[in-house]
Amino acid sequence: MSDQAIKVAVLAGDGIGPEVMTEAIRVLERVAELRNLSFEFDHQLVGGAAIDAAGCPLPDATVAACEAAGAILFGSVGGPKWEHLPPNDQPERGALLPLRKKFGLFANLRPSICLPALTHASPVRPDLIKDGFDVLCVRELTGGLYFGQPKFRKEEEGDILAVDTMVYRKSEIERIAHVGFQAAMTRDKRLTSVDKANVLENSILWRETVNEIAKQYPEVTVNHLYVDNAAMQLIRDAPNFDVLLTENLFGDILSDEMAMIAGSLGMLASASLGQTSGNGLYFGMFEPSGGSAPDLAGQGVANPIAQILSAALMLRFSFGLETEAKMIENAVAAAIADGFRTGDIMTDDASLRQVGTKEMGEAILSRISA
Ligand code: NAD
Repeated sequence: MSDQAIKVAVLAGDGIGPEVMTEAIRVLERVAELRNLSFEFDHQLVGGAAIDAAGCPLPDATVAACEAAGAILFGSVGGPKWEHLPPNDQPERGALLPLRKKFGLFANLRPSICLPALTHASPVRPDLIKDGFDVLCVRELTGGLYFGQPKFRKEEEGDILAVDTMVYRKSEIERIAHVGFQAAMTRDKRLTSVDKANVLENSILWRETVNEIAKQYPEVTVNHLYVDNAAMQLIRDAPNFDVLLTENLFGDILSDEMAMIAGSLGMLASASLGQTSGNGLYFGMFEPSGGSAPDLAGQGVANPIAQILSAALMLRFSFGLETEAKMIENAVAAAIADGFRTGDIMTDDASLRQVGTKEMGEAILSRISA
């Protein structure tokens, strides 16, 4: 690794954000120590904290820090204190969406991992997931029904008409398909593409394009599922999936379904990736799948694992530090295997040890080995 510091914009945000972020930074510093790396963390305000201190959810200084960094490590934003504000001034809409837009974050990756020791946290019958599972949802984030034009509402012949338009360009499908296949190449080399090609023109183009791109990744086994069938198969047989590739709307729904099947939100990381820099790496924003958990904020009991695993994804996708990412993921698995549990993943098993945010951070930190 070069001597240059790895620049990260750190946006901890609101609620449990700052608590779990502290643990993620400590983990990264430990990795840096062991692997002779150097991080430069630029801490900036975002969300409600930025509204309180600077009058808006995404101050210019925060955007500038993100522009100067190789990646954004994001906590979470929002909370009851800011819910009275007009929608566009609220923390989520005023910070998250502009960041996604500004950095062209077109690919959303949500690993849905249920470790064998945590299958009890899943609402799925234990015999269906007895060895746990590890599914990576790759969702297109900037196209499809959410952004297609025209989008309007009007009165017509005494009735009301509302129109949303689902649009995909082949180039957009190619771009996200490459992300999916590249991810599959680092995993079990199986990719399931989800569409609705029996009904939608968009999906016919999606399927054709995925099949074309598949030729560039001959080692990856590809299959296609209609979205309604995928929704059922994920519940029936989650361990049978490796990478799930899909468009924006289907991905929105299926990635939340997978989060539910995996158990606690406190365990689930996510990555939103933007343009490549030509070397297989992405600019990205890395954050827990959950929100600011106002019910837990300030108590030191939130699970820091989603934030810590988001830092691991950042090392992998933005900085190409696969070994270091695995060091963190292995340490998390080891802390769980050794019985450490935050409240959200605790059971009444007497051999387990319930810990707070900081102790869980320490348990992971002490299990990182080079
Ligand atoms: P939430 O994800 O914050 O909480 C849902 C449930 O999951 C709560 O019971 C919470 O305690 C639990 N949970 C979440 N993260 C946890 C963790 N790390 N450890 C243990 N338990 C955890 O969702 P919500 O309650 O719907 O929203 C709360 C606030 O967060 C709202 O203001 C919402 O707008 C915001 N939000 C922000 C983001 C984001 O910043 N990306 C995402 C979702 C929600």
